[in-house]
Amino acid sequence: MPPSPARTTTLIDNLFSVRSLINSATSKASLSKQPRLVAVSKLKPASDILALHESSAAHMHFGENYLQELQEKARLLPKSIKWHFIGGLQSNKALSLARDTRALWAVESVDSEKKASLLDKGWGQRKPEMGGEEKLRVFVQVNTSGEESKSGVDPNGEAVGLCRFILDQCPRLRLQGLMTIGAIARSKATTPDNENEDFICLREARDRVVAELGLEGAQLELSMGMSSDFEGAVAMGSNEIRVGTTIFGGRPPKSP
Ligand SMILES: *Cc1c(COP(=O)(O)O)cnc(C)c1O
Repeated sequence: MPPSPARTTTLIDNLFSVRSLINSATSKASLSKQPRLVAVSKLKPASDILALHESSAAHMHFGENYLQELQEKARLLPKSIKWHFIGGLQSNKALSLARDTRALWAVESVDSEKKASLLDKGWGQRKPEMGGEEKLRVFVQVNTSGEESKSGVDPNGEAVGLCRFILDQCPRLRLQGLMTIGAIARSKATTPDNENEDFICLREARDRVVAELGLEGAQLELSMGMSSDFEGAVAMGSNEIRVGTTIFGGRPPKSP
């Protein structure tokens, strides 16, 4: 279980270099606040997470894509970790995700009213020892690239409708923001000076939701930016970036 000293050093070096790129991108864009960094640890061992959480890095936010893997890691690792579920969410697992995942901090992949309702219900059935606040933070996942392979609601009416549903019908959920993955080709072409269309689309969707639902802009976050495009995402006002490969290295292909 304890990570090797060499692995710990590599992970901390990687994390610090991501943090410092975020720093530079934040100050270059004259932003007052740094985005949150979620370290995406899917398919990586629990010892990697412990190495970043308990070392001088003291990293808090980790993201996982698969329910069973997340629940096992959350059971095993310190309760002080803030877990984000960022993977494709199936309706039949939404209730257990909210009810049975220790120290769950946010669910970022909500794309239907049914899943939102099940998360709301599951959060209500949660035992106190599972930790967590009064409300579960959720992000609505938006399909900004229009690719059929990507989940998420469309950036127009559907995004507004689902956000309204969460605000009106899900008393145990807190609408934290909007999330996108985006097209790989656009992501690879993203540089700090080249605006990514997916990020523009998500920002516009946020502005629309805010206007139509009468919210304040600062209330709704943008979760956008991954290993290949996070500096560009920061420049475009991302409030949260999700970085896996650059911190943990490549992942094995997921076995079915
Ligand atoms: C895997 C994943 C990431 C991290 O991707 P990297 O390219 O490894 O940084 C971010 N967000 C989501 C939704 C993911 O599934």
